[in-house]
Amino acid sequence: MAQHQDNCEICDRLRQAARGEHPGFILEMETGVAVLGDSQWFRGYSLLLCKRPATELDELPPNMRRKYLEEMALLAQAVRTVVQPHKLNYECLGNMVHHLHWHIFPRRADEAQPEKPVWVCMPAPEEAAPYALNAEGDASLIIALRAELQRLMAENR
Ligand SMILES: [Zn+2]
Repeated sequence: MAQHQDNCEICDRLRQAARGEHPGFILEMETGVAVLGDSQWFRGYSLLLCKRPATELDELPPNMRRKYLEEMALLAQAVRTVVQPHKLNYECLGNMVHHLHWHIFPRRADEAQPEKPVWVCMPAPEEAAPYALNAEGDASLIIALRAELQRLMAENR
């Protein structure tokens, strides 16, 4: 069975966020940290990094698991409101990094293959560079997502 790894990229990103150094930091929630993804090929692509280094959802205590799923849904809702995609994709994989994290992908109707999962729609390496997360260029998106997420959290309290 997959186990949490010693050199865990998600733990690194959580520490980076705690130091105030994660360029995509959106908001700290109760169970996780919401961040904008390293690639903005799918504009608004965000993640919810679980604060607990669990590999599977059933490893979280029931209350935390419910809250984590709810907070993922709130982040997704904030992305939907701010980015206004055709469709959202929600993914929790962890095949490579065994630490729970949700991917929230906004999909557009005008993509080349909108019916396909994101993983077969990724840009070629030479196309990807202009879409890399850019703290300056993406600041207004991060601010809008943070404001909407804070509003939703207050509403759902
Ligand atoms: Zn970890």
